[in-house]
Amino acid sequence: MQNYKELLVVLGCLCVSALLLTAMSPRDQALALTCQNHLRSLRDAAALYEKEHDGNIVPVKTTLNKKYQTWAGILLPYVSDVSIYYCPADLPHGSKALERVDLIPTVYRGDTISYGMNYFLGDVQKSRKPRNYNINLVDTPEKIIFFGDSQTPFLRPTQACWQLDFAPFHAKTSSCFVFVDGHTGILSGATLGIIGRPDGFENWQIDDSSWHNWKKE
Ligand SMILES: [Zn+2]
Repeated sequence: MQNYKELLVVLGCLCVSALLLTAMSPRDQALALTCQNHLRSLRDAAALYEKEHDGNIVPVKTTLNKKYQTWAGILLPYVSDVSIYYCPADLPHGSKALERVDLIPTVYRGDTISYGMNYFLGDVQKSRKPRNYNINLVDTPEKIIFFGDSQTPFLRPTQACWQLDFAPFHAKTSSCFVFVDGHTGILSGATLGIIGRPDGFENWQIDDSSWHNWKKE
């Protein structure tokens, strides 16, 4: 029964993605597909990191030895082509659409990358009880976002951060995401578990089932 439910969730996500894709122009569809390939490659790099670190998830950010680093810098040794840090729909204003894919940076530019990591996978807030952020403890990995289009290296669906982090690069409404299990999708703010309108904070509400679901340790 559980597997059946999970299958329905995955099919539902695929249907939403397919709908959003068909609503896009052919150019936007091509950009979204390249973006999702990049996200899948980033998830692969993070998986290599997990393999070498007993399943521990790459930190969202760290200040180890007083050196500030985000997940993107930590994953550099696992990335062979740094163009995967950049979304082809997130490129300089005014550039001609069809030339954009050629404008993807070939050098790593620190925090100016196009993608953010789900902050709940490695929340470093000291006020909370420390958690073991291990990939094997993620329940329903097919539902939990790992990386996605973002204006910062972090994805945080909180009232204060969402307007900075969420980046609808695709057809002005949608973002691409890769989930913990490696599948990708295109989602709009409304389908991301953000129930309140991003411009109407008085009704802010989050369905956090896309953001964290930890097994009991
Ligand atoms: Zn993108």
